[in-house]
Amino acid sequence: MIEKRQFYINGKWVAPAQPNDFQVIDPSTEEPCAVISLGGQADTDAAVAAARAALPGWMATPVADRIALVEKLIEVYKSRSEDLARAISTEMGAPIDMARAQQAAAGIGHLKNFVRAAKAFEFERPLGDHAPDDRIIHEAVGVAALITPWNWPMNQITLKVGAAAIAGCTMVLKPSEQSPLNAMIFAELMDEAGFPPGVFNLVNGDGAGVGSQLSAHPDVDMVSFTGSTRAGTAISKSAADTLKRVHLELGGKGANVIFADADDKAVKRGVLHMMNNTGQSCNAPSRMLVQRDIYDRAVETATEVAQKVEIGSAHDEGRHMGPVVNEVQWNKIQDLIQNGIDEGARLVAGGTGRPEGFNKGYYVRPTVFADVSNDMTIAREEIFGPVLTMIPFETEEEAIEIANDTLYGLTNYVQTQDGARANRMARALRSGMVEMNGQSRGAGSPFGGMKQSGNGREGGTWGIEDFLEVKAVSGWTAE
Ligand code: NAD
Repeated sequence: MIEKRQFYINGKWVAPAQPNDFQVIDPSTEEPCAVISLGGQADTDAAVAAARAALPGWMATPVADRIALVEKLIEVYKSRSEDLARAISTEMGAPIDMARAQQAAAGIGHLKNFVRAAKAFEFERPLGDHAPDDRIIHEAVGVAALITPWNWPMNQITLKVGAAAIAGCTMVLKPSEQSPLNAMIFAELMDEAGFPPGVFNLVNGDGAGVGSQLSAHPDVDMVSFTGSTRAGTAISKSAADTLKRVHLELGGKGANVIFADADDKAVKRGVLHMMNNTGQSCNAPSRMLVQRDIYDRAVETATEVAQKVEIGSAHDEGRHMGPVVNEVQWNKIQDLIQNGIDEGARLVAGGTGRPEGFNKGYYVRPTVFADVSNDMTIAREEIFGPVLTMIPFETEEEAIEIANDTLYGLTNYVQTQDGARANRMARALRSGMVEMNGQSRGAGSPFGGMKQSGNGREGGTWGIEDFLEVKAVSGWTAE
């Protein structure tokens, strides 16, 4: 069993102030795979103090040097990608091939996008020709607490650390206690890349402990958080007393609006997208809205596609779906599937209980509900498992109304071959992102939500700006 009880503070691996063992569970087997320690106030204070002490030097480090360190990090990251993929696969259950190709690989993409965006970003610029003596300066917000979830762990960590580092912030990362191993490898990479002591610190812990201590800490200037809406609310309240800046990337309940003129693969693509990462993505297209003319055929296709999804251990190679992360999530998903049945939705694939052939591991049956109405619990709550809800609609106006009738607003999807309609939909949907016809967003595009999906924007230029203050100066002397 892996034993990794130390934290990375001020450039060194240090023992926790007080031992507090926590077992990391492999969801494929339900067996413990590692022991870490959960930190407490003294560990949080030590990490924040290190970040605070390193801040002036890091802010004064030329941007070009900060960028060069991120470029070094990319090289080191590539050399340890396999270790990252294995850790992610073991602790959160992404099948190893998927962990390599999507989970670990995402980090390299984000870091490269930050480097490109930073090279083009004007940290200091004139206000405009009308005010030649005015200068706009972008400088680091300060000490940033980075609190991340387990579902796309390296994706989230690199989105925050890369942007904070380039902006000149120093930071304390608290990864999810469910998936700490990949984050600890990442801390080794930061060390190897040569970031000065104190710029990056890592303390393991849970939300009630280190998470809350960071959000309330008087020496933390901002919190960048990705996770549940529940925790986002708690963090916002806890941060309010010190008026720190809070950037939130929260849950979603995305609509995938499929019009009658959509391409032939649209339904299949939507189901497989829903099942990717075992449904544990905040931007999952979890409400499939289908125009009435093609609805019956779409339900048949979705049923067939879901029934063909193979399930297996995260340790096995192949394109199967792995388990969900832990027992709590497994139980929550079971309850919601039962709730869908109880509220009268038509179960056409999957259902409660483990898939056939599995009596251990947090495996969930790929599930599809048809004839869902948008006021049912399964259409309103984020399930965070491989459960698709299908809702029929008649007109474009009705589709927009249903799609927007949610507390969330992260990603919506549109499938139509009518370009003018696609554009109308893009304008009408209340979400931070709209994706058309299976086309992914470009490199460095901002990721983030509206409404209860949060207020932050991550990735590329917008991701860096989240960690910057804007300073307006008059009477600037030309240099
Ligand atoms: P979670 O909110 O339980 O935990 C996320 C992180 O917050 C963990 O590190 C946890 O320890 C910490 N935390 C929990 N309570 C806290 C508190 N009161 N104060 C401070 N920290 C606290 O979420 P999770 O179960 O790890 O992740 C799943 C959720 O994350 C889903 O709702 C999903 O939609 C969301 N998510 C959103 C995005 C996005 O970018 N919008 C990306 C990934 C995941």
